Amino acid sequence: MESEKSRNGVNHFENIACPFCGIACDDLEIGPSGSGGLKVLKNGCAKSVVGFERPLLEPSPQVDGKNVSLAEAVAAAAKLIRESRLPIFGGLGTGVEGMRAVMALAERGGGVVDHALSAATYRNTRVMQSSGWLTTTLTEARNRADLFIIAGCDINKSNPRFFERVVCNEASMFSDNPPKRTVIFLGDGLDQSAAKGPRIGEVLTIPCKTDRIGEILDAMRAMQKGISITGDTIGGVPRATVEDLFARFKAATYSVVVWNPASFDFAGGDLTVQAICEFIKEGNATSRSAGLSLGGNEGTPSAISVCAWQSGYPLRVSYANGKPEYDAERYDAARMLAAKESDLLVWLASFGDDLVPPETDVPTIVLGTPGLKLSRKPKVFIPVGTPGVDHAGRIIRVDNVVSLPLRKLRQSKLPSAIDVLASIEAAL
Ligand code: SF4
Repeated sequence: MESEKSRNGVNHFENIACPFCGIACDDLEIGPSGSGGLKVLKNGCAKSVVGFERPLLEPSPQVDGKNVSLAEAVAAAAKLIRESRLPIFGGLGTGVEGMRAVMALAERGGGVVDHALSAATYRNTRVMQSSGWLTTTLTEARNRADLFIIAGCDINKSNPRFFERVVCNEASMFSDNPPKRTVIFLGDGLDQSAAKGPRIGEVLTIPCKTDRIGEILDAMRAMQKGISITGDTIGGVPRATVEDLFARFKAATYSVVVWNPASFDFAGGDLTVQAICEFIKEGNATSRSAGLSLGGNEGTPSAISVCAWQSGYPLRVSYANGKPEYDAERYDAARMLAAKESDLLVWLASFGDDLVPPETDVPTIVLGTPGLKLSRKPKVFIPVGTPGVDHAGRIIRVDNVVSLPLRKLRQSKLPSAIDVLASIEAAL
């Protein structure tokens, strides 16, 4: 349970959920920095420190680079959306309530909805839509897995506390003396430094090009079917090493294959996700195995879920015809901007300063963190607070099974994107 304590009259927050990556750790302790800001006191990571300890800036909204009141900025944004033939609502770095407000505004304004990180998440979505998958949750992996295969992703960068919370945990819900775990890194230069501690048994690294991981998984699918594989190497890896990996997979009681679709940024990257997922599905004929897709940063799970709840589709939805219309290729925001199919970009980035809009000469409305690293002045800029720091909210975890409540931790004059979007919608 989250809690708030007062020490010497200053608020300390315990069991706080962190919105700065997809695993949404819910055990942080946050207190005052002593200079008016916040300090991560316990259970943080470098990414969370950057997010929570960002100095509070409260700049004025701007229209055409000039300071204006919030009401004037809202009116200018509403006018642009009203006059637009086809606005894109992109970025979408927000929580559940912010995404609900985006959906309402897109429906009123007749626009297209797509997240900034959709290119990566669509490698998963296409597989889920076409052939399905068998995935697990962070909690089940933490409590049941005896083998983790880390396929091609540098988790310490994307989800820094994953190993600490899910792989290296000493206690298990189902055993007082849980067995040691094997961790196998399959990929190119992956950081294995976090796989340590008494719970960890063997740690193996199989060096392999990321875009050849699919070949290795497909070869192991063949082995699973009793088909003999010839050749000295498979996907650039010695055949004996792949056979050993397969033997370890077969011997495990509960294996978890972990990937991050953002790591498969090459032609046919979704086929690597598919090879992993088919291998897992087929492995369940004789053993227990599951997939776990990580990443989920900048609120992608919240954006996908809310869009699916409200429109029936997982992003890349257009309301141009007054009802939700889904097309994963046609309503790809990056493609549409490059093809000049839109005349207005409404960009939302409320978690960090790095989720910047793509280079485009299309007029842009930005609802963003005050320090968002914009390369050019947008037509309208409205600084907004961060959910879980400046205002309350809710975020969906990367395994899509829970939503975590986010607390307001500091006093801030920054409006929430939820309120700003609702005001723009009211002014349309
Ligand atoms: S691992 Fe992710 S959710 Fe956990 S504290 Fe770090 S940034 Fe926050």
